[in-house]
Amino acid sequence: MTSHRLQRWAIILMAYQYVVKYRKTTEHGNADALSRLPLGYDKNFDDEEARYNVRELYTPINAEIICRHAENDKVLKRVCSYVQRGWPEKLSPQDADLRPFFNHRFALTIKSNLPCLQTEYNRVIIPASLCGQILRLLHDGHWGVTKMKQLARRNIWWVNMDKDIVEMCSNCDICKVVNPAPARQYESWPDTNRPWERVHIDSAGPVFNSMWLICVDAFSQFPFIVQMTTTTTVHTISALSCGCG
Ligand SMILES: [Zn+2]
Repeated sequence: MTSHRLQRWAIILMAYQYVVKYRKTTEHGNADALSRLPLGYDKNFDDEEARYNVRELYTPINAEIICRHAENDKVLKRVCSYVQRGWPEKLSPQDADLRPFFNHRFALTIKSNLPCLQTEYNRVIIPASLCGQILRLLHDGHWGVTKMKQLARRNIWWVNMDKDIVEMCSNCDICKVVNPAPARQYESWPDTNRPWERVHIDSAGPVFNSMWLICVDAFSQFPFIVQMTTTTTVHTISALSCGCG
């Protein structure tokens, strides 16, 4: 981000002709008088000078606005209701549009009246009516797909958010020029020095009407294969404990 800021400063400065000169700290108090030339406490100044407390800076989107939009969002209202009352075992056909939320149901919470998705970060779920505006805010500065996703994933979520970000950047000529997609680099796993230092595990199948849990020791390449009826967490842990223990 710093490099982008420097680039923007450089662009602003291109409009001027200037010479950069070195001046000692003591000789450029003019540039930074408030911190470099303090005069000490001045009662008259404090008493007489008009002062303004900045209580609230203008923010284009805040919790209150999101709350208001969320209240008018028919989908989010149903989601919030399920979060508060508990989700059913299965979604009924009339709730089919809630599927993406249902799939995240264990990570959904409500904080300060706002529906949130709890991941590594607590992400506010953005009502559909605000997604466009938020997308434009995220895009301000033309960070490119990766940076926009990083910013978004720390704060917000909506269904198809990642897809919308990609679409916005791929339609933006500036993003394409400034942030071309980095070349993908494939790297091998690092070498291991002893057995069981690293184990690769995956489920395969169905093959021969079964699922198969495959564990391969990276050092010896020795495979452990366990026949499974299901691949639930409980069964997988059990198979790893007994089958490979
Ligand atoms: Zn852009």
